[in-house]
Amino acid sequence: MASRVALVSCVKQKCGAAAPARDLYVSQLFRGLRRYAETHADIRYILSAEYGVLRPDQVVDPYERTLNTMPKRDRLAWAEKVEQQLLGLLPAGAEVILLAGQRYREDIEPFLRKSGYSVSVPLQGLQIGKQLQRLKQVSKRRERRTAVPNAGLEGTLDRQAITSLLIEHGQLVFSGPLEFVPFTQIRKADELLNDLQAHPHAYVLACVMDRQIKAEKAWVIPFRFAQKLGTFAFSRLAELTLDEVRDLMTKPEPLHRFTEGMSKNFHAAVGLIKEKYNGNAAKIWEGKPSSADVVYRFLEFQGVGPKIATMAANILARHFKVPFKDYYSIDVSADVHVRRVFGRLGLTDPEDSIEAVIYRARALHPEFPGLFDYPAWEIGRNWCRLQSPLCGDCYMKEVCPSRAGSSG
Ligand code: SF4
Repeated sequence: MASRVALVSCVKQKCGAAAPARDLYVSQLFRGLRRYAETHADIRYILSAEYGVLRPDQVVDPYERTLNTMPKRDRLAWAEKVEQQLLGLLPAGAEVILLAGQRYREDIEPFLRKSGYSVSVPLQGLQIGKQLQRLKQVSKRRERRTAVPNAGLEGTLDRQAITSLLIEHGQLVFSGPLEFVPFTQIRKADELLNDLQAHPHAYVLACVMDRQIKAEKAWVIPFRFAQKLGTFAFSRLAELTLDEVRDLMTKPEPLHRFTEGMSKNFHAAVGLIKEKYNGNAAKIWEGKPSSADVVYRFLEFQGVGPKIATMAANILARHFKVPFKDYYSIDVSADVHVRRVFGRLGLTDPEDSIEAVIYRARALHPEFPGLFDYPAWEIGRNWCRLQSPLCGDCYMKEVCPSRAGSSG
């Protein structure tokens, strides 16, 4: 089995005298990272802004240097030196766990990948507070698992650990700050979809278009429509006849694979927003409604089924931070990624139906089953590929019964 090597970046707070590198740094974050490295890796090194790569037992003097304030040119020189050191230290085929801030990773991570090492960054994207929280949870979970001697409980514990880890990741996104959501590859299209204040109908109409084509293609339709029409103001959309919608949807190039059906759905959706919500689609989710109300309101749109309706409510809650009274009725949208990941994690049978995945999520986290949606989708999309999953990079690898190299 490949060696696991943890690379932990140095921190500002240090003790006042020369010490072995593992004891030189005294911040809470460093101690948490050190503990993580000690329990998850066979070999550990410290990435020091002053000295480059340090062995934990290497005695060094304290210093002030940090990559966080270093000019780019100096950071590049530092990275070059570290890369040379690492080439001499890393065993062939090692799995590298990078426990380092962005500045320490920016050049090292691509270098490692290019050099053929598998790399995982378990705390990627987390602010310091969240990193501490995660480290604490991981350490507690480990303590709990090692404290139970009864091997017969292992399966149950693994499922608990898997569920907690998914919930933890789902919660981080759910409780995180409001951020711009990149739905498509086109910035202007995404700006329109993110503009829930002035164009809430763009979000709703994108959901209505999300059928039988790739999501990225469907979600760009409001923007393409606006380009052709010169505006996406609701008052203008409400004036369009079905024939005009069909023309815009079809010419000069078709916006959807099923232009006839989608033109009708689009036209009907505009009509529903006009009649029921007085032209303001934000009324679908305003006033802290229950999740069931929001899902039901999306289901009222022609062509929208439960999968899209729950996805629409989930994105509003998770990414746009729209407050709901409860989250019971937001299910997972069990697409291929979610189904594959649930299956490989042993939460469902790989052959199980979409309904089985939905009900399993309800059973595991009834207060908000849809919380599993994003982490499972993200794992499926980034690492848990159909062929050759990248288990070395996946944050579930510690608990996953199907990870590559696992006997279970
Ligand atoms: S560890 Fe591997 S098999 Fe398990 S979820 Fe991650 S990528 Fe998939």
